[in-house]
Amino acid sequence: DFPCFSAMPWFGMDIGGSLCKLVYFEPKDIPKCESTSEVETLRNIRRYLTKNSAYGKTGHRDTHLQMDNVVIRGILGTLHFIRFPTSEMKNFLALARYKGMATLVTTVCATGGGAYKFEEDFKREVNMKLAKFDEFDSLLKGLQYIDKNNHTECYYWANPTDESKCAKVNYDFSSPYPFLIVNIGSGVSVLAVYSATNYKRISGTSIGGGTFLGLCCLLTGCNTFEEAIELAAEGDHTHVDKLVKDIYGGDYERFGLPGDLVASSFGQMNSLERRSKVSRQDLARATLVTITNNIGSIARMCAMQERIDRVVFIGNFLRVNPIAMKLLAYAMDYWSKGTMKALFLEHEGYFGAVGCLLQFHE
Ligand code: ADP
Repeated sequence: DFPCFSAMPWFGMDIGGSLCKLVYFEPKDIPKCESTSEVETLRNIRRYLTKNSAYGKTGHRDTHLQMDNVVIRGILGTLHFIRFPTSEMKNFLALARYKGMATLVTTVCATGGGAYKFEEDFKREVNMKLAKFDEFDSLLKGLQYIDKNNHTECYYWANPTDESKCAKVNYDFSSPYPFLIVNIGSGVSVLAVYSATNYKRISGTSIGGGTFLGLCCLLTGCNTFEEAIELAAEGDHTHVDKLVKDIYGGDYERFGLPGDLVASSFGQMNSLERRSKVSRQDLARATLVTITNNIGSIARMCAMQERIDRVVFIGNFLRVNPIAMKLLAYAMDYWSKGTMKALFLEHEGYFGAVGCLLQFHE
């Protein structure tokens, strides 16, 4: 017996400071309990979502993350992963309305700050009630569920500093506790997770993915995250930063500080001459390295304080961003003298939205 499909919470939403993450569960078999007009609308919406991978100008479906044949509350189906900028919420609601959402009696599971900020708009524009859930509860539930359903979810970077030997390696995360989560979104939150239900938020920093993108736009004139990452990939941060060897002429041997280590992020940029030689690419790379190393350093201090050696980095800052992942992998390993491990997850930004969908009870 299927519960009525229209009563099914087929969406989970995580409305963050930068991006809205939308997870859509498409059941394999559709039960027959709706009225005919509802069936029609549902079919249209399903077709629209699953046949396209771009929605309007700014909505995207991450088809490479799609999960087939998963079971949610006893129902077999497919999970689809969709994102759009939170700044486009008005357009998203207009589109949802145009597709007939307002005619369906629906409750959507939502988390993130936007679940509060946009609650009234959802009600007014598309007649949707939001079932709100805590973002960290959701994040953990989603993470546990996805890791259980995808055996290649968790990985680490082997040889992160050697381009020719560097590789993603699958990591068995089936007995994960305790571990640290470093969620790099617009800002950063650090959670210590001791068991499936026992966790606390131990730290955070406002210097996160939003800071990277904001500073990069200011310094290079770029306009998108993708553009910022492309620029960074072609830049050299040592044209911008002051290194140990710029100060010592080589290593600072007594305290084991290698010459190539950044001593002062952006420390060369006080010089007019240096500024005139620096490229947009260099500035983008230096911004990326500065923000990433700062987060890595906070992560390591948190792990040390909690005596935890596995640190899972997630959040959309890591999207299409192998430079940051490899930097984090290297820094965690190097500064902990090999005692700590940086781990990554394929569905990096979507755990909140998934966990939210899983928590729904009528
Ligand atoms: P939040 O919930 O705060 O929106 P996310 O985990 O979604 O956090 O991460 C947002 C960050 O992801 C941005 O600050 C930016 O660094 C990065 N990012 C990745 N892809 C995009 C994109 N297409 N548009 C904007 N930011 C992106």
